[in-house]
Amino acid sequence: MRYNAWRVFPRESRTLNDRIGWLDGLVVATPDITLAVDPVRLHRLPHNAWAFVSHAHADHTRGFSHRGHKQSTTETRDIHRALNDQKVTNFTALELGHLAKFDDTEVKAINAGHMLGSAQFLVRTPNITILYTGDINCVDTLTTKAAQPEKCDVLIIEATYGSPFYKFPPRENVYATIVEWALDTLRHGIVPCLHVYAAGKGQEIIRLFNSYTRIPVVVDQRLDGVNKTYHKNGNNLHWLSDHSTDGKETLENMPCVYVTTPNDRKHLGRRFSRAYATGWALSAKSRATAFPLSSHADFDQLVGFIRECAPRQVYIFTGFADELRYALKARLGIEARVVPSFAQRTLWESY
Ligand SMILES: [Zn+2]
Repeated sequence: MRYNAWRVFPRESRTLNDRIGWLDGLVVATPDITLAVDPVRLHRLPHNAWAFVSHAHADHTRGFSHRGHKQSTTETRDIHRALNDQKVTNFTALELGHLAKFDDTEVKAINAGHMLGSAQFLVRTPNITILYTGDINCVDTLTTKAAQPEKCDVLIIEATYGSPFYKFPPRENVYATIVEWALDTLRHGIVPCLHVYAAGKGQEIIRLFNSYTRIPVVVDQRLDGVNKTYHKNGNNLHWLSDHSTDGKETLENMPCVYVTTPNDRKHLGRRFSRAYATGWALSAKSRATAFPLSSHADFDQLVGFIRECAPRQVYIFTGFADELRYALKARLGIEARVVPSFAQRTLWESY
């Protein structure tokens, strides 16, 4: 079925290829089928479309509710299931480094470095190669390897921290600062409590304390299922759930670190000291303690990544899209365009 995907891309860009568009997510029409990458709404997708999900954060997983076929890495499907208790039907795994073929079009999953199982998708039609990054991180962490750039004609890239203001310190320094803060807090008889995303950052923090201290880590039960998926996939994690007897007892009577979600407002009492780990810490105006530990690329990493992909055309979504667009013109001579998306510019994101 030929599918008209042109609703948002400007008219002049249509000369690139008559089969690629942005319709609440990247849409590619092969002669017989529609491929939709990270769709954020489903009502305009044909039932026989294939939905691709880049990673398990809630702002990218709408495609798992599509009635037709779904593809992601197995880890992304498992983390989504752990977080939402949602079974994914009509599912075919597409593992990192592997290809799926649809008529004359190939889709390859490539490591995005953002969290376990996170993928970029390289879509190759007979005329054009498109790289859709999803969320990317361009440095190694304790739980992930850096995103891999790929040569492409068209690059569609996130710009969460696409402003020159966002330059993250070396990760080892941030790790050291977090551990020092936790040890200092414990020395005062207070339990350090870190608010982080339940999937990705949470497991990195657990790994940090497992690797460099002997302090027991107790977690909000929402992290429990995701931890198990990480553990099953080779990330050796040790933790106690706050719903287990051991976890409750440790939290009550022992020196420990407590890891919970960004929006957890349950009353913890004076025995606890809260802190946050997020890239937004660089711009946070609140008095809360916050560490600039991000699962996203900062500005310099984004520019470097784009340079390595050497695209003819760049489309940007999310965050500081306009600032990145101006910088690409000035530094690389690349004309970039912005595609509309939800904003992701707050310190207290909910996933
Ligand atoms: Zn994400």
